[in-house]
Amino acid sequence: MHINSHYALGVIIASISTYYLDFIALEYTLIIIASFICDFDVFFSLYARDRNHRNLITHSIIPSVIIIIIGVIFNWLGLIIAGFAYLLHVVIDTFDWGTNLFYFPKKTIGLRFLISKDEEENLDKYLSKYKVKSSFFDFKYYNSKIFLFSEIFLFFVMLFIISLFTLEYYYVLFFYFPFLFFHLGRHYKLKNIEKS
Ligand SMILES: [Zn+2]
Repeated sequence: MHINSHYALGVIIASISTYYLDFIALEYTLIIIASFICDFDVFFSLYARDRNHRNLITHSIIPSVIIIIIGVIFNWLGLIIAGFAYLLHVVIDTFDWGTNLFYFPKKTIGLRFLISKDEEENLDKYLSKYKVKSSFFDFKYYNSKIFLFSEIFLFFVMLFIISLFTLEYYYVLFFYFPFLFFHLGRHYKLKNIEKS
């Protein structure tokens, strides 16, 4: 899923848990950061199998397990929840394209709704239909009713939950938009390239 929706989920988890477990601002922030930070591994795609950042260790269950263990050792509930927010990101990413969930078997795992068996086996053929390879992935995502709906749904649930539980942190909402505009900007740029 795109980083803006991971962010929205992070705000939802942080707001609910802060309300019920009395977390401080640091814990609130930690949970949100844990929910989207692993997508910055895209800068290290060069080192990933197939140059796909989802194959890096950061998109496996390993970091979240470590965070949760540290949280248990220090008896720090905020960190444990942050670990689960991180884990949820990785698990959700198995729904669209899949991730290298267990890292060591080097296998992409997941329901992978956005790619069919035929597309996977003949990926080069499908990619060659586009001027830029990433158009294939970008268009599949934004043409998917399920993912489009979840993007919109999560945005409104985020607004609802934060106003209900932690309105004092309303300003974290502003950070959602740069993430959204990053993806939308790329989408329209690719559309223009493919049209030209
Ligand atoms: Zn991700």
